[in-house]
Amino acid sequence: MGIPQHILAQAIDWRRAFHAWPEIGLHEHDTAERVATLLESFGLEVQRGIAKTGVVGTLRNGDGPSIGLRADMDALPIQEKNTFDHQSATANCMHACGHDGHMAILLATARYLSETRRFSGTVHFVFQPAEENAGGGQMMVEEGLFLRFPMQAIYALHNWPGLAAGNVTVNPGPMMASHDSFCITLTGKSCHAAMPDRGIDPIIAAAELILALQTITSRRISPQETAVVSVTQIHSGDAMNIIPDTAVLSGTVRCLQADTREKVLALFADLVTTLPASFGVSGELHWQYGYPVTENHPEAALTLRDAAIAALGESRVNWGNPPSMAAEDFSYMLQACPGAYFWLGADGVSPSASLHNAFYDFNDGIIADGIRVWVSLVERSLKTVHSLNTDCGSI
Ligand SMILES: [Zn+2]
Ligand SMILES: [Zn+2]
Repeated sequence: MGIPQHILAQAIDWRRAFHAWPEIGLHEHDTAERVATLLESFGLEVQRGIAKTGVVGTLRNGDGPSIGLRADMDALPIQEKNTFDHQSATANCMHACGHDGHMAILLATARYLSETRRFSGTVHFVFQPAEENAGGGQMMVEEGLFLRFPMQAIYALHNWPGLAAGNVTVNPGPMMASHDSFCITLTGKSCHAAMPDRGIDPIIAAAELILALQTITSRRISPQETAVVSVTQIHSGDAMNIIPDTAVLSGTVRCLQADTREKVLALFADLVTTLPASFGVSGELHWQYGYPVTENHPEAALTLRDAAIAALGESRVNWGNPPSMAAEDFSYMLQACPGAYFWLGADGVSPSASLHNAFYDFNDGIIADGIRVWVSLVERSLKTVHSLNTDCGSI
């Protein structure tokens, strides 16, 4: 399907304006107002202020099922190093993850569908705050997203450097990992470094514990399960000739299955208690849960795959590729409602800069493909998908 040139040109303008005026998570006030005003100008019903800055625009067109399409709105605390005209006007803040592009694609989809209306049912356009850290997706769910806007399925996309422009990857299961962080405090007893027998050395215990934690992934869970344990910080001691009282370790854990995540946490807790104790050191674990696994619902993933094939052709749609160990708070929406998430390739003639890199810029050349997939999904879902018949609002 062809997307009219004037809609594409407008989408690129919106994208670059969002890029020039980025806002950090839960502070997307101007961004959200711009989104809401545009949605209203297309004739949609608009609700503001869900999870502080979240916006939902609703497009109704007769009877039929409802689906949701989600975009994220927040930028990152990065000083942009690009020098083009639409570079960030705000110091230490930039759209380095392409959420500017996600918004432009979804807004253009809303405009296109509001004009063409070749579907029967309701589409909720969900613009969420704070994907990067604060869990705006979870906040929207907790503030009743699926009760206020009942829908049979919800979908989202992320642009993906490393995948060719116009290509799509979607899986019938995990797409992104869970993300938890940990902080371990090991407490011994300080003493003169020349008289270690007069104290209890937490650094020796820390060194042993760091190695032992790696055996969780290499020896304690099945090789079929996927997890990463990374100790990324060690803080201890102030002087060369003093054995310190404490050593503090912190880092991150990523898993691709929910039960693996719980298993890893239990093994962590056991090692932190028992291993330092064998050195006379006490260990205390503070575990901070982050985003859960982003796991597509198989039926919704199939619907999305078929829509992408209809929009872009079979050769451009990958099915069942390896997931990423990065995380995504769309996971909370997928825990509350059936749905699926896909990657839209972002590499042009030359590869895109990485996500979260100071030279990153969303590839405007993929906006049309993103709109095509969303339009295809809406026009197919709201004619044919009646088997997903459980309203999330009733959960
Ligand atoms: Zn990001
Ligand atoms: Zn992102």
